[in-house]
Amino acid sequence: MTAPTFNPPSEMSNRRSIELLALGVGPAMGLNGRTTSCYLLRVGERRILIDCGPAIVQQLHAVGVAPHQIDDICFTHAHADHTLGYPMLMLWRLFKAPAGVGLPRIIASISTMGALDGVIQHTLAGEAAIIRGAPRVELPTHEPSSVELADGILLRTWPLAHSPYAPTLGLRFEIGAPPAQHVIAFTGDTGPCDNVVALAHNADLLVHEANFSARLKPELAGGAFGHSTAQIAGRNAAAAHVKHLALVHMDVSEEGQESVFIAEAAAEFDGQISAPMPGVQFTL
Ligand SMILES: [Zn+2]
Ligand SMILES: [Zn+2]
Repeated sequence: MTAPTFNPPSEMSNRRSIELLALGVGPAMGLNGRTTSCYLLRVGERRILIDCGPAIVQQLHAVGVAPHQIDDICFTHAHADHTLGYPMLMLWRLFKAPAGVGLPRIIASISTMGALDGVIQHTLAGEAAIIRGAPRVELPTHEPSSVELADGILLRTWPLAHSPYAPTLGLRFEIGAPPAQHVIAFTGDTGPCDNVVALAHNADLLVHEANFSARLKPELAGGAFGHSTAQIAGRNAAAAHVKHLALVHMDVSEEGQESVFIAEAAAEFDGQISAPMPGVQFTL
């Protein structure tokens, strides 16, 4: 895998390449361009959205991708910073997509799917029945599972430890077949959790939340409020033998301290580490 590079999406190749574009990397209350969580995974021509924060339509527009070009939306959990763009994206799909383009497939835990249906019912009641008709895959909330999203794209999920009100699934994308298989793993939001190591085992790229820094806030070193520190992320990356660790979802009070987060993780993990900004693209 190459180091993180930014390339305008128009320069993406048409071969079956694997690219992950960070659309939003911020925490729930992000500022200064760190809009909320969303990532665009492209495998060849297939476009898979990971989470769908409030600014999703603008985030996609900023990188030259139209909402109707999204094939699948995978949700980690129901919290607002990861889901509130869902109604707006679906509204766009209903009224602005070219004729004949259907709705994207929705992939989420049973718990998160229920929350998504609730959001749609409360905000787009007139269109709710149509939106609920979108193809969907409901995954177990509290146990590991897997689903083949497309030929050569296997999604495996593990329950992580975040919030009893918004259970989180870590997402692991296994792309291709061994020995040419590539793996990208996402923690979504999680506190310390043994399942992260299984989720990220031998991954090319682990996108791990690091809401806090143990160096900047030693009182939170063990993780707090269902979130991790860069130290915890580094330990997980080392235990899982990943190649590249991307630290995201840093608390707004720590903006500008990316180098501290990276150094903290580097004390635990000797692979590549980055703290990507929106627009950064990882190419495998
Ligand atoms: Zn979050
Ligand atoms: Zn959350």
